Amino acid sequence: MEKIKILVVEDEAPIQELLQFNLERGKYRVKVVDSGEEALTIAAQFQPDLILLDIMLPGADGLEVCKRLKADPKTERIPIIMLTALCEEADVVTGLELGADDYITKPFSPRVLLARVKAALRRIATSKPERNDELISAHNITIDVARHKVEVDGQDVALTFTEFKVLQLLSQQPGRVFTRYQIVDAVHGDDYPVTDRSVDVQIVGLRKKLGDSGKYIETVRGIGYRFKEEE
Ligand code: CA
Repeated sequence: MEKIKILVVEDEAPIQELLQFNLERGKYRVKVVDSGEEALTIAAQFQPDLILLDIMLPGADGLEVCKRLKADPKTERIPIIMLTALCEEADVVTGLELGADDYITKPFSPRVLLARVKAALRRIATSKPERNDELISAHNITIDVARHKVEVDGQDVALTFTEFKVLQLLSQQPGRVFTRYQIVDAVHGDDYPVTDRSVDVQIVGLRKKLGDSGKYIETVRGIGYRFKEEE
């Protein structure tokens, strides 16, 4: 079986080594480059299944690289996990809105690294074009998309239209972080006058109605929200 390919874009040698060592131990085929320019060339040729992209790079930084990868038909579908320092929350938000799938904060443990890589690859494998007859089932929550019905432990939960759309969006990709802007955008479309703060209000309402299961909608501080993956 052919190995899953991962492209690592990172300019610091010790972190390059750490990533390469752990990913190879996880049975991935790894290629490492240390600049954004190189990443753009190599990504198109190597066609990795996933890219780990450092934000702070000399020359074109990770955000610029992310934008260009997502704008190129040859690389637009490759999932990107950003590597960031703790204090780069604003960059993470920008990166997610540019199309990155996830981020890992440095320093990271090998366990977290491999779990995030696996989760991103799994989401790609299971993601399908939006279907309206879909039944989403996670934890003790069942979401009947066509009928706009939600049940927790088999009991009906009455949600508003917006709460429902938020829950649908998050639960379709468990573990994926959505920024407030992405939630507004997905729920109402670009032109709807909803502020990102009103997303917080929707989330509060949604959690309350889900009762104990409200905990599956997790706050990612400084970034946004995600639906907890099942263990
Ligand atoms: Ca760096």
